[in-house]
Amino acid sequence: MHGRALPPGVAASLTLLRVRGIPVRLHVTLLLALPLFAYLMAAAYFTPAGAAPDAQAWAWGALLAVGLFASVLLHELAHSLAALRFGVAVRDITLLPVGGVSAFRRMPREPAAELWITFVGPLTNLVLAAPLLAAWALGLVPDAGWSRFVEWLGWTNLSLGLFNLLLPAFPMDGGRLVRALLARRMGLARATHVAAGIGRGVALLLGLGALLLGNLLLVLVAIFVFSGASAEEHATVLVEALAAYRAGDLAARIEPLEPDAAARDAIARMRAERRLALPVARDGRPVGFARLEALAHAPPGSPVEAHVAAAPVVPADLPASQAAETISQERSPALVVDAQGRLAGVLTGEDLERAAAIEEILSPPTAPRT
Ligand SMILES: [Zn+2]
Repeated sequence: MHGRALPPGVAASLTLLRVRGIPVRLHVTLLLALPLFAYLMAAAYFTPAGAAPDAQAWAWGALLAVGLFASVLLHELAHSLAALRFGVAVRDITLLPVGGVSAFRRMPREPAAELWITFVGPLTNLVLAAPLLAAWALGLVPDAGWSRFVEWLGWTNLSLGLFNLLLPAFPMDGGRLVRALLARRMGLARATHVAAGIGRGVALLLGLGALLLGNLLLVLVAIFVFSGASAEEHATVLVEALAAYRAGDLAARIEPLEPDAAARDAIARMRAERRLALPVARDGRPVGFARLEALAHAPPGSPVEAHVAAAPVVPADLPASQAAETISQERSPALVVDAQGRLAGVLTGEDLERAAAIEEILSPPTAPRT
C-alpha cells in the first residue's frame, strides 16, 4: 500500500536500513508478530500434526516469516523507486504486521504516473513468484526443506500480487487503479470519493468474511484498509479543495507580540482573545511563537523573547496544499506566514480545513461526465 495519509499509529517504528535515502522502518508491533508468524509457520508446514515444533521447524518458520516480510518490502520498494523516478519524494517505508506502507510527500497528479507507481508493486510479487514456482514445480530444489520454502514463498508472492492487484479496496493498489481510471471521467476529487466508498464497502465485506473464516490477520487488514480509505480520501479532497489558494490567502492576520513585551501582558492578551499562542515579530519581521504553556511558567515580568519557540516559516505565495503538508510533516499546530520579510499572518490546520470545507460545499456536485 502507498499513499500520503497514513492510518494513525504508524509513528512507533524503528529504522532498519535506508535504500536510496528512503528509511525502511519496522513498526514495533512487528517485533511481536514476527515470532508469532514463525511459530505458526513452523507448526503448519514443518511439524507433524499433534507435535510441538522442534528447533529445526522453528528455524524454517523464522525463515518463512522473514521471506514473507522481505517480499512485502520488495513490493513497497518497487512503489517507492517508481515514485522517485516520477519525481515524487518518498518519506519512508513502514513494515507492519498487516503489510507495508510507502509514505509519499505528495501524490503524483498525473494519472499515468499514479497507474505505473501502483502497478509495479504487485508486478514485483508476480515476477518473483514465477521463477520460485517454476523451480519448485520442475523439482529443481533437491532438499525437501528448501523445496517447501521455495514453494511457499512462490505461492505467497503470487497471492500478494493478485490480492493487491485485483481487490478494488482503495487505498490498496487495486483501489488506486480503480480511482486512476475513474479520475479520467470525473476528476480526482469525485473519483477519490467513489473509490474510497468502494474501498470501505470491500473492506467491510472482507472483514466480515475474515471473521466467519476466523482469519484474524485478514480482519486487521480490513480495519487497516477501512481507516486508510477515509484518511486518504480526506487528504486528497483537502489538496483538491485548496488548489486555488496560497498560504497568504488563508492566514489569519493576528497582531503580533513585541519581543520585549512582558510575559504577564502576553498572558492577559491570550486569555482575553482565547488563544494558546501568539506570533512574535520584531519591527514587523516574524521571530516565532509565544505559547501560553511556556509563558505560564515564566516570571511575570520576563520578556516574551526569552520564551519564544521557533515556528516553521512559509512564504505567503506557497500553495495552500503544500502548507497543509508542512503542518503535518513538522507536527506543528501553526505556521508563520512571511511576505517578503514581513509577518503576513498565522496559518493553522483548522484554517485550511475550514477553507477546504467551504470550497467543497460551494463546488459544483460533479464535473461533467461522459
Ligand atoms: Zn502496493
